Amino acid sequence: MIPFLDLQAVNASYKEVFAKTFTSFQEKGWYILGDEVRLFEKEFAAYCGTKYCVGTANGLDALRIILEGYKILGRLTEGDEVLVASNTYIATILGIKQAGLVPVLVEAESQTYNFDFDDLENRVTARTKVVMPTHLYGQLADMEGINAFAKANELLVVTDCAQAHGAKDKNGNRAGSLADAAGFSFYPTKNLGALGDAGAITSNDTALVEVIKKYRNYGFQERYIAEYEGINSRLDELQAAFLRIKLRDLDNANNKRRAIASYYLEKIKNDKLSLPSWDGSENHVFHLFVIRTKERAKLRTHLEAQGIATAIHYPVPPHKQNALAQYAHQSFPITERIHDEVMSIPLNPVLSDTQLEQITTALNSF
Ligand SMILES: *Cc1c(COP(=O)(O)O)cnc(C)c1O
Repeated sequence: MIPFLDLQAVNASYKEVFAKTFTSFQEKGWYILGDEVRLFEKEFAAYCGTKYCVGTANGLDALRIILEGYKILGRLTEGDEVLVASNTYIATILGIKQAGLVPVLVEAESQTYNFDFDDLENRVTARTKVVMPTHLYGQLADMEGINAFAKANELLVVTDCAQAHGAKDKNGNRAGSLADAAGFSFYPTKNLGALGDAGAITSNDTALVEVIKKYRNYGFQERYIAEYEGINSRLDELQAAFLRIKLRDLDNANNKRRAIASYYLEKIKNDKLSLPSWDGSENHVFHLFVIRTKERAKLRTHLEAQGIATAIHYPVPPHKQNALAQYAHQSFPITERIHDEVMSIPLNPVLSDTQLEQITTALNSF
């Protein structure tokens, strides 16, 4: 059986170094907001090309805390509208709602799965204050276009980078550095994955970073002195230690992902399938390799019979979720079609050449 993603295999090469890290962590006796978090923040900011990084407990909180920070600074107010992709992972939308703002869903574009720019323009109102693109599946959204749109409409730009660690635009600028602020998740399956929950915010905005560093820790200015009504969403010290080790291999792992994607794009030949559109540059880190077919259920059964596991990202669009019933009356035909047709095949740095061949052969024989 070829699993969709074997996390044990992904982390196997770190077994010894992680064990040593744990031992010294335990012996040190400093478990929250210590040197590991501080150093990871420094190293991840340098990696992304931003002045700052602030660790958080997870990716959802990272997105929420950015918006809460702007509220504290007076740049956003409760009820302000945030433009967000209708085909994003539900966390992007929940982060906006939890910060007391209003998500306004925008139709997707059918090739790259990022914003449909005509629809984006149409959704702007007097209350629109933020545009929040997701670099879905690991491919950068058109940030030049989005930043120009934001400038014209005086909007803040916040990116959901949870699937795009390390992606670079044509000027060599990385995901996380292309907006006013960005949220990352280090959930174990992500391109940079912890051994538990973890997240971070990157930004060049000194005022914002000062606020969110307090906000994530009860709003404390100094110990037990609360300046704002904050939350507890700190990056775990042990996870930060693991992430520091894995960060050194991230470019290498992303290169492997792109090599596998190139292999798939060259070798998969089947008219019933459409493959991802990608210009071959480093703007994609292939968090997922998402294909489309009108015969998804049949294809999944066919692959399963050949021992190949697949996944669907995602089966139900946000506006069709029971949890977001207030959007149920809205219609996003492209997003709905995407959710009916998409299917992810295994793509991760530990797949063997034999496995890649098996997967390709199975897809071509469908
Ligand atoms: C994983 C993910 C998140 C949320 O991250 P968590 O760490 O699970 O909270 C947000 N947005 C996108 C696009 C994601 O893929």
